[in-house]
Amino acid sequence: MAAAAPSSSSKGSLREDLTCAICCDLFREPVMLPCMHHFCKPCISRYWRGTLGPVSCPQCRKEFHSKQFQTNFLVAAMVEKVRATTSDSYTKSLEKKLREMMESHRQRKENFILGVRKDKDLINVINRVGTDIKTRIKGEFQALHQILEEEKTSMLEQVTREQEEQLEKVQRHLEASESAITDLEENMQVLQQFSSAVDNIEPAELPQLRPFSHVDRVHHFDVDAFSNRYLAPLQYMTWRRMFKSLRPGLSPLTFDVDTAHPSIHVSRDKTAAVECDFMTQHACHSKRFLQCVNVLAAQSFHSGRHYWEVEVGSSAKWDLGVASEAVDRRARVKLSPENGYWTLRLRNRSEYWAGTQPWTRLQVSCSPQRLGVYLDCDERKVSFYNADDMSLLYTFKNGPRGKVFPFFSPCISDGRHGLQPIKLLHHPAESLHG
Ligand SMILES: [Zn+2]
Ligand SMILES: [Zn+2]
Repeated sequence: MAAAAPSSSSKGSLREDLTCAICCDLFREPVMLPCMHHFCKPCISRYWRGTLGPVSCPQCRKEFHSKQFQTNFLVAAMVEKVRATTSDSYTKSLEKKLREMMESHRQRKENFILGVRKDKDLINVINRVGTDIKTRIKGEFQALHQILEEEKTSMLEQVTREQEEQLEKVQRHLEASESAITDLEENMQVLQQFSSAVDNIEPAELPQLRPFSHVDRVHHFDVDAFSNRYLAPLQYMTWRRMFKSLRPGLSPLTFDVDTAHPSIHVSRDKTAAVECDFMTQHACHSKRFLQCVNVLAAQSFHSGRHYWEVEVGSSAKWDLGVASEAVDRRARVKLSPENGYWTLRLRNRSEYWAGTQPWTRLQVSCSPQRLGVYLDCDERKVSFYNADDMSLLYTFKNGPRGKVFPFFSPCISDGRHGLQPIKLLHHPAESLHG
């Protein structure tokens, strides 16, 4: 407000300067007398009316020999300006303008306050999510550390146990040998006494001696056998055992032949499925896909977290993911979550799509040979990874409820490219039992 003060006071003094000393109002048709004083033309005319001789200035009393004045257009213009800027309508419009400016400032401030609040909320969200993720990571690593710690403890205990067994054997042998030495020394003493007295005493029988104690042969300890078991590729052995303890680890899936479309040939070990141009005469089964070239895994999931990997090689086309148990196997349906399918698909060798409705095109830099599918039943999420480098390709947020099966479709080949099977990957650690 300090800035406005000089302007209003200067305006006030200007108004005073432009006020007629006779009528005490703003000049009307201002005129200037030879003494340079100004008055309204009507005021000075009325003031001098009736005077015939010399006249005087009402302000400075200076006398003039005749009624003379001249119109001052500059002052007239200034008076008009002051009159205009102090008029009611002008003041009202000015007030309106001020109110509008105030309102626009208030509005802008309100928007910024809203933006600040949003930013602060966002900061909280980012911090919370970051903390959650870190807690989760710590938990996962804690679990890994625990597995390793348990492996280490168990292995060290085993070495200690074997070491103690060996020591105990040697200790027993040592004690037996020492006891035998004592026996022999005592016998030797008795014999010595007997021998020195043999001339003085009558011939008698030999003294009573302690019997020889039997001590087994010296214990054989096979250093190599003891150490070789532990000097094996220890880290790799431990890692393989650890692999089995991973939660979730790699689910060892197999194809369910009873679900396979007649054009799909499943390998004898049920880990490879390929589309053929001849129909296999399968037994009729209510689980079988009859329209689409699909096949399910024999394993199903309805709770917990599960991960599996699929090798697709350099196929030009495939679909894979999860399917609800209830999907219609007899009809040709679009693979979308609405129809019970959460899938990733490849078309034309290099176009990757998420099986949403409509499809979502994915930017995948290099063609993965292996795909990872991560199913979190509890959080209802299905994620797809490039299993070559474990980069995330896509996540379905509204995943399935209830029982689902891993789903695969080698699609119908166009004949130009060799038939490429879809392979279910099993890690070798799976065969390492115990
Ligand atoms: Zn006047
Ligand atoms: Zn004067």
